[in-house]
Amino acid sequence: MNETARFSVALTGIANRKLFDETLRLRKDEADAEKTELALVLGDIDHFKSFNDTWGHQTGDQVIRFVASTLTKFALPDHLVARYGGEEFAIVMPRTSLKDAARIADQIRTAIEAKRLVRRSTNETIGAVTVSFGAATYATGETVGTLITRADECLYMSKRNGRNRVTLETQLPPIVAATHAA
Ligand code: GH3
Ligand code: MG
Ligand code: MG
Repeated sequence: MNETARFSVALTGIANRKLFDETLRLRKDEADAEKTELALVLGDIDHFKSFNDTWGHQTGDQVIRFVASTLTKFALPDHLVARYGGEEFAIVMPRTSLKDAARIADQIRTAIEAKRLVRRSTNETIGAVTVSFGAATYATGETVGTLITRADECLYMSKRNGRNRVTLETQLPPIVAATHAA
């Protein structure tokens, strides 16, 4: 485990990148064997750099913990919530349709935008943070890499379309979708 991974667990209590990678591969094999669905949701905090610049890194960490706990609250018991990168998160959702993944991601998105954050150190009102999401579903025979890429394209589309939204792979423009169809 590298330092970043160790840090992830310490800060948020959710799975790190290594456990995410292992679990996604395991769940892919399981989906192949059992012919079940597997959804992947990626999320990234909006404008987090300017948030850190305004409120400081420590308050930023407080927000990362809040986002992690909200993901955990709405994910189902057999889902894996992970810290994918610094302010990026993932949920591996075995036996979950894209529609259900979208519903859960939107519950999380709504709960986060509704929360009025208070800076713990000074009791100042910070306001709200928002998170953008992308959701994709495993296509039999593809690699976990292309599944992650597709979920990431969806997340990128959420950012481009104004942030604080969930984009599904079915909403990708045809040119992007076609790149991953082969
Ligand atoms: P966007 O809406 O496009 O995602 O903008 P952004 O500013 O969130 O995106 P960008 O990737 O440019 O910045 C991510 C920032 O997240 C950079 C870094 O300062 C911050 N960050 C990453 N990891 C941590 C962490 O563990 N703690 C804190 N406080 N900040 C972090
Ligand atoms: Mg980011
Ligand atoms: Mg961000």
